[in-house]
Amino acid sequence: MATDYRSTVFLPQTDFPMRGDLPKREPALLERWAKIDLWRRQRAVAEGRPKFVLHDGPPYANGNIHLGTALNKILKDVVNRAQSMLGKDANYVPGWDCHGLPIEWKIEEQYRARKKSKDEVPVVQFRKECRDFAAHWLDVQRAEFKRLGVIGDWDHPYSTMSFAAEAQIAREIGKFVMNGGLYRGSKPVMWSVVEQTALAEAEIEYHDHTSTTVFVRFSVARPARPELAGASVVIWTTTPWTLPGNRAIAYGDEIEYVLVEVISAGEGSQARVGEKLVVALKRLPALEQELKLGGVVLGAFRGRDLAGTVSRHPLRERGYGFDVPLLPGGFVTDEDGTGFVHIAPGHGADDWELGIAHGIEVPQTVAGDGTYFPHVPLFAGKHVYWPNGKAGDANGAVIAAIAEAGGLLSQGRLLHSYPHSWRSKAPLIFRNTPQWFISMETNRLREKALAAISETRWIPPQGENRIRSMIETRPDWVISRQRAWGVPIAVFVDKKTGELLRDQAVIDRIAAAFEREGADAWYTADPRQFLGDRDPADYEQVMDIVDVWFDSGSTHAFVLETRSDLTWPASLYLEGSDQHRGWFHSSLLEACGTRGRAPYDAVLTHGFVLDEQGRKMSKSLGNTVAPQDVVARSGADILRLWVVASDYTEDLRIGPEILKYQADAYRRLRNTLRYLLGNLAGFGEAERVEAGTMPELERFVLHRLAELGALVRRAAEAYDFHSMFTAIHNFCAVDLSAFYFDVRKDALYCDRPDAPRRRAARTVLDRVFDCLVRWLGPVLCFTAEEAWLSRHGDAPESSVHLVTYAEVPQAWRDEALGEKWRRLRDLRRVVTGALELERAQKRIGSSLQASVAIHADAAYVAAAAGVDLAEICITSDGTLDTAPPPAGAFALPDVAGVAVVVSEAPGEKCQRCWRVLPEVGSLAAHPDLCRRCADAVGVQG
Ligand SMILES: [Zn+2]
Repeated sequence: MATDYRSTVFLPQTDFPMRGDLPKREPALLERWAKIDLWRRQRAVAEGRPKFVLHDGPPYANGNIHLGTALNKILKDVVNRAQSMLGKDANYVPGWDCHGLPIEWKIEEQYRARKKSKDEVPVVQFRKECRDFAAHWLDVQRAEFKRLGVIGDWDHPYSTMSFAAEAQIAREIGKFVMNGGLYRGSKPVMWSVVEQTALAEAEIEYHDHTSTTVFVRFSVARPARPELAGASVVIWTTTPWTLPGNRAIAYGDEIEYVLVEVISAGEGSQARVGEKLVVALKRLPALEQELKLGGVVLGAFRGRDLAGTVSRHPLRERGYGFDVPLLPGGFVTDEDGTGFVHIAPGHGADDWELGIAHGIEVPQTVAGDGTYFPHVPLFAGKHVYWPNGKAGDANGAVIAAIAEAGGLLSQGRLLHSYPHSWRSKAPLIFRNTPQWFISMETNRLREKALAAISETRWIPPQGENRIRSMIETRPDWVISRQRAWGVPIAVFVDKKTGELLRDQAVIDRIAAAFEREGADAWYTADPRQFLGDRDPADYEQVMDIVDVWFDSGSTHAFVLETRSDLTWPASLYLEGSDQHRGWFHSSLLEACGTRGRAPYDAVLTHGFVLDEQGRKMSKSLGNTVAPQDVVARSGADILRLWVVASDYTEDLRIGPEILKYQADAYRRLRNTLRYLLGNLAGFGEAERVEAGTMPELERFVLHRLAELGALVRRAAEAYDFHSMFTAIHNFCAVDLSAFYFDVRKDALYCDRPDAPRRRAARTVLDRVFDCLVRWLGPVLCFTAEEAWLSRHGDAPESSVHLVTYAEVPQAWRDEALGEKWRRLRDLRRVVTGALELERAQKRIGSSLQASVAIHADAAYVAAAAGVDLAEICITSDGTLDTAPPPAGAFALPDVAGVAVVVSEAPGEKCQRCWRVLPEVGSLAAHPDLCRRCADAVGVQG
């Protein structure tokens, strides 16, 4: 009966399980980290190191996190942990954006559901409900972010609604007061009738909208050219309700215009035979169709020849008796309409600028609720939009009046892209309102911001042009909102002079009150308290709140500057690429306006999350992936793996197939760690050997470690986690699992414990584990910790997150050796292919039953000098020569010059290691063992 040698073989031993079971194991690790206060230990370990400050862009506290926010936070966490690994003090203070319309809107909705209006409660009570709402979601999101493994000062996060933040925001506004950058202007702004507030660029979405369009005659009152006497200039507009606000008509200097006499009018045409109209030449054919008329051209001229012409408003007899001059406008084209643009300075940006440039009155026509003011003739009280956002009765009334006065030429409808509110989805209007602005030109803000962009590192570099072109062309920053939930623009205006009160002492008193009681103080305190010995009756207290982008644009001031454990400016801002017009932008303007430079040294942007087909995620498509579901089903490490396995510089795709792929990649990494741990059981310092004495195979693995160690550092510094992860994964799958582990299994299991080959292999496994677990730490923060604890024990100070990347001796690098082994592995690939074929055809069972005869070019033979090919190929015997291969030898098309013939290995099978060797049977003490195994069993007694 054969002896059972299983107990004499060193099979791997580890408590590190094969199955990740992450949904169960991760919460236990989180508990451990909380118990040992890992974040504080990190700070202590990193004390005195160079600081790396990734300043958190605050998510908005009004709902559960979604995959986009999860991606952002995980990427930030990987950056921070990698920077820690590089030897920096990477402290992370998470934050939240808490003020603003979306929360206010939610609370108002709750009121409406209870048939209440927010105007029925004191503003301070309304603000408190908004605050409670934000505080609730801050807590929910905090728990969700922590579950993703994100580490930071979660016990002391920042929020834009903390009293200290509100006070600092007031101080920041005060800086613009004192330096003259803040001014009150009257300007058309994008206005939501539904929400009754001005909206910022970032709050506007474009959707298709059907507008009523009209062609209207403006008869010439005082022609600059005699032939224009008695003619009418024709305009086209998609917003007839702006016609009461009309004060001018714009033409293009270089556009060719024609004077046309109507000689025929088709059925239903509102043109009159014999009347003379002025339109752009290029538009004439289209207009003859549209207006159903036939005409003859009486004369042609350039737009500039119209200078000095004055026309009349079509409702001149009914309260609109002012002059309507023709003015040159650079924005006018002859691509659509009539080549003339009706100018309502209160209802458009171009209109306003043209009006200001020519000293034209900017009329106040439409009130905040979307109705015409009482002083507007004919139309007072009519609605542009109803309070629910549906088109009101203004268009109809204006068109009817103009038709009645004989001004209407045609009426139609047009489906076009039109601005809407991102929140209520209601169409917006341009409306002239008094607003507070930060000037782009005062104090050379635009110039400073452009200079700061040049001094910032943009990752990827395309971001630089994106933000630069925005800053180059942007108008002054409208920072006022007519809402309640936010930081008030806490300033006073002298009622007599209209001047802004500029007094640092007043600003300081306001900020001090906010620091004590929050910004509610602006609503509750006696203004006397702020004004000192001035008479409150002489001052208007401004009750607008500041744009939330100003709040978040000031986070650098109340987080980076005030916390002693952080630095200003930040090393890095990291958000989605839409923040070029959001947070990166507002932070840049705020800091350049108050401190003369950007609050960041570098800005990194990532793409958005799409489904597997590259579509946006939406509830209606049913393709959304909730991070909470992935975490509950597969674990946070799978999600983290997805983040680094994707190329974040582009949009990231996710779905069931992609997650399955990540789970497979995870299993490979986990198995690698497990193999290492299992084969390192009992490894101690005494067993370690010097690199110089190791077999070449071990030195090759050390060479790869050195290569990879340098790559990981480079990639961590460049935030290139995609390349880093690909390299680590390939190292585990190709270099280790499919090669080194496979080859060394025999030595690890069967060599005697003190055999130099086994000691060298275990020394290398120890170094591989040490490198790999730290490389994986920033990414698989749970699994790497689990492996670390399995190897090093779970004393409170034991954590992979308290160490840095392993120092890999660069002396291990040996390019010649690397090249040699690249060649040997090519050769091995041919042998493996040949053995697989033999196995598939059932000619052999295990590769150890085979002997291989390799016929190869001289370069391969030279590379194999001194290498035991049977060992590398996991066969029992083998030969290598340059003799020409026999017909039918196995070859691979991509490895030229190598052919293999497989035969049965001579001899008997060793019952312990299963190699087939002639020596088996020749040893008297162990007739069923090979020499090596007999020796190993003997040592074990
Ligand atoms: Zn053996």
